[in-house]
Amino acid sequence: MLIDIDRLPKEGLRLVRDFEFLNLDLVEENAVFLEPAHAEIAVRLIGEEILVRGEITARLSFVCSRCLTPFEFPVASKFDLVYLPEELDALSEELSDEKIDQMYYSGRQLDLRTVVLEQLNLTFPAKPLCSAGCEGICAVCGELIRDAKCSCLVKESDPRWNKIKFNVRDKS
Ligand SMILES: [Zn+2]
Ligand SMILES: [Zn+2]
Repeated sequence: MLIDIDRLPKEGLRLVRDFEFLNLDLVEENAVFLEPAHAEIAVRLIGEEILVRGEITARLSFVCSRCLTPFEFPVASKFDLVYLPEELDALSEELSDEKIDQMYYSGRQLDLRTVVLEQLNLTFPAKPLCSAGCEGICAVCGELIRDAKCSCLVKESDPRWNKIKFNVRDKS
């Protein structure tokens, strides 16, 4: 949904809205929306800067990167952003570290849908885990270790063996 910058009321704009995104839009390829993303957003124009402040809540289903079990991933994310007109970007010659993260709007418009999607994607972990201590799948039988479905004995190797291996490698 496009916000027309020049038609923003002086006191700003408040929006409460559900956004439907395609799972394809998400950086996490195995994520599925369990319900639409709900966003409450306030937009204000101060000089040429657009201030966007808001909150996104959503429920998604992720797939654990260790045990491959789907699990629910709730999102409750607050954000506070400043968008500068794109013309400023063209003027600034050198990119400092700060400016790399700077966001811009162009054509006197801001697409809130894109803003919400970007913020949503930022909340996703690089490696989704069903729980911090997920033990994943047994390398021997392929069953979940967590549910004790697997009875294979995968033990840490005896440190004395490590020493022997080390010695062998030393000699070669
Ligand atoms: Zn897991
Ligand atoms: Zn096993």
